[in-house]
Amino acid sequence: MVPAMQNPRRRRALSGIVAILVIWGLLVVKGLGPAHAAAPPSSPSPADALKLLLEGNQRFAEGKPVRPNQDTARRVALAGGQQPFAAILSCSDSRIPPEIIFDRGLGGLFIVRNAGNVAGPLAVESLHFATAHLGTRLVLVLGHTKCGAVAATLSGQTEDIPETAKEIEPAVAKSKSMSGDALDNAILENVRLTVQKLSTLTPLAEMVKAGDIQIVGAVYHLDSGRVIMLDSPAAAPTPSK
Ligand SMILES: [Zn+2]
Repeated sequence: MVPAMQNPRRRRALSGIVAILVIWGLLVVKGLGPAHAAAPPSSPSPADALKLLLEGNQRFAEGKPVRPNQDTARRVALAGGQQPFAAILSCSDSRIPPEIIFDRGLGGLFIVRNAGNVAGPLAVESLHFATAHLGTRLVLVLGHTKCGAVAATLSGQTEDIPETAKEIEPAVAKSKSMSGDALDNAILENVRLTVQKLSTLTPLAEMVKAGDIQIVGAVYHLDSGRVIMLDSPAAAPTPSK
């Protein structure tokens, strides 16, 4: 046993110092924790967030990714909290992992994925969490060409995806009268209606109305690797070469 532990007075004094340090430490942690968690940190504006996404997609599509924020330092820096600059609702399709196609890393994107990128109750809750509690101000609904979930709904083969198909059917119905490729039209319409649904659904609608967040739609093209915004003139899928 060390001499200090044999002396009761010194032991008591040491215990007192340790207790003070622990209490001080707890106060510091408390001050940096809940106080900041109560008010979401401010993220980039929706326009700036979209710019970051599209710049990353351009790097990816051109085969020049820089793969930012994927190192140990970034991982360690994020261990205490996250402030993703964009929330993405995309398809589960293995060919469109958002971090890769937008050339991002850890802590940048809050991602909700399911077959057909549909906005069911669970997806809506997750997107609301990102916008209300993590300060994320941009929500991107991302469809993609040749989507299997939309194709299955279009052809009526929905026995394995009944709940997903229910969400996609309005888009299929609305796009039926359109000219052009039926699947491409249904995919575009599915994104468009999902953006509309999220934008008018409580509690996201209030945030959109207040100008706190923006909800936008886009389609990822498997052939080119490019993400085309819904309101872009190039939104209509280009024929495969
Ligand atoms: Zn898909």
